[in-house]
Amino acid sequence: MWIGVDDTDSRTGGCTTFVAFQLVHRLISTGFSVIGYPRLVRLNPNIPWKTRGNGAVAIQVSKGVTSDIQIGLNKDTKLMIGKTLDHMTGDVDTVREIVCSLIEEYASFDDDNTNPGIVISNKLLPPHLYQNAIQKIVTIRDVVEELDGLDVWYKGYKNQRGLIGASAALSWNDTMDKTFEIIYYRDKNRWGTKRMIDTRSVLTMDERCPSTFDNYDRENHHLSIAPNSPCPVLFGIRGDHQEPLPACGSMIEAEPSQGWMIFVTNQATDDHLQRKKIESIEPYQSVITKGTVCKKPFTIPGGHVLFTLEDEKGKTIDCAAYEPTKQFRNAIRQLEKGDIVEVYGGVRKKPLTINIEKIAVHYLIDVAEKIENPLCPLCGKHMRSKGKGKGYHCKGCGTKEVNPIVRKKDRLLSLGFYEVPVCARRHLSKPLKRMDDS
Ligand code: ATP
Repeated sequence: MWIGVDDTDSRTGGCTTFVAFQLVHRLISTGFSVIGYPRLVRLNPNIPWKTRGNGAVAIQVSKGVTSDIQIGLNKDTKLMIGKTLDHMTGDVDTVREIVCSLIEEYASFDDDNTNPGIVISNKLLPPHLYQNAIQKIVTIRDVVEELDGLDVWYKGYKNQRGLIGASAALSWNDTMDKTFEIIYYRDKNRWGTKRMIDTRSVLTMDERCPSTFDNYDRENHHLSIAPNSPCPVLFGIRGDHQEPLPACGSMIEAEPSQGWMIFVTNQATDDHLQRKKIESIEPYQSVITKGTVCKKPFTIPGGHVLFTLEDEKGKTIDCAAYEPTKQFRNAIRQLEKGDIVEVYGGVRKKPLTINIEKIAVHYLIDVAEKIENPLCPLCGKHMRSKGKGKGYHCKGCGTKEVNPIVRKKDRLLSLGFYEVPVCARRHLSKPLKRMDDS
C-alpha cells in the first residue's frame, strides 16, 4: 500500500518530510513495515504558492518482515526497512487513521496556504500525474477528477491543493535517475532558534564523502546543508548513494537531533526541464532552449545580468542571471552577440524571462577588438576618430577610413557548461558533478 502526503507546512514552521519521519515511526511502532526508502519528490519549482522547495512525500507500507537495513533513527528507535510485501486486508483503516491523525496533529491549518492532501493506493499512480506536476501548473479539479477514476482513497483538507503533490509523489518512477538525502531533525525545543552546526565539520565531511554533493559553497562561504527557515530540519546531506549517508551524517558536529531518515528523491536530476523551441515556451515551465545571443549581456540595477536569445526563426526570449547567482554572472557577462548557447532554467511570467540555472556554450563567435586608429595610406600617420561609429579621417590629407586596426579578441569563456554556485542551486537542478558521472 502506498501513501502520498503533501502541503502540511507553512512559512512559519513545519516540514512535510518531518511528517513523513513521524509517520514512518508511527507505522513501524504499530507493527507495520515500511518498504523501500520513503520518497521526497520535488515538483514544479516555479509555482507561486509553494512554501519553499515544493516537496511532497510518499511511503510504501505493508505487513512484512523487518530487514537489517536501517533507514532512520527516531530518538533511540532504529527505523528498519521492511522486506516482504504481504497483503494488508483489514489494516487499511488503521493506516488511514494513523495518517489522518498525524496530519491533523502536525499540519499548519491556520495558514491559508496550507491545504494538506493524502492519497492512499495499492499501486503507484500513472506517470503523467508526476510529469504534469513537475513541468506544468496543474489544477486541483483535474487531479480530483483523475483520482475519482482510479482505485484510490484520498482526503483533501481545505481547498485540497495538497492532493496534487500527494498524487504526484505516488506517480514518480524511481527506476529512472534518482538521488538520496539523509535529513536530521531538531529537538522540538530548538525549533525556530539558530542552528548550531560546526562549519569545519561540514567541510571535512564534504572532502571525505565524494558521493555527496551541494554541501558547502566554498566560493560564497555558504552552508548549503541547513535551511534558513524555522522548520524542524537540522540539516540534510544529498548523495548519489544511500549507503554512505549515515556515516557522512555522523561526521557533522552539531546540536543534538531527535533523529534522521533517508529519503530517495528526484532532487538533482533535472527532471523538471523540458526541451522547448523559444516560440512554445510558457510561464512557469522549466526549459532547455538553444539559440544565438542576439543582444550582448548587460547589468541592470540590483546586479541582475540579462541577455536576449534568438532562434533560427527569429523568435526571442530574455534570459537572466539574477544577483543571487553571484560569480555565475561573470560567465554570462562574457557572452557576445553571435555566440550559440543552450539555456537551462525556469520561466518567469512577467516579463517572460528564463531564470538561468545552467548554460551550455556551444559556439563562440570571433570578436574583433580595436587596438588602434587606422594608418593613413598616403601620409602613414594615425588617423583621427570622427566620433563614435563615425569612422576616421586623416588630419593631413583628409583621407577617410571606416574601420580601426583590430585583432581577434581573447574570449574568456570556453565551450561547455557553466552552472550557478551551490548557494543558488535549485533542489531539482542536476549539478555538473552529477552530469559528468552519468
Ligand atoms: P516544503 O518543501 O517545506 O514541504 P513546499 O514548498 O513543498 O513546502 P507546499 O506547502 O507543499 O510547499 O505547497 C505546494 C502546493 O502546491 C501543494 O499543495 C502542492 O500539491 C501544490 N503543487 C505542487 N505542484 C504543483 C503544480 N505543478 N501545479 C499546481 N499545484 C502544485
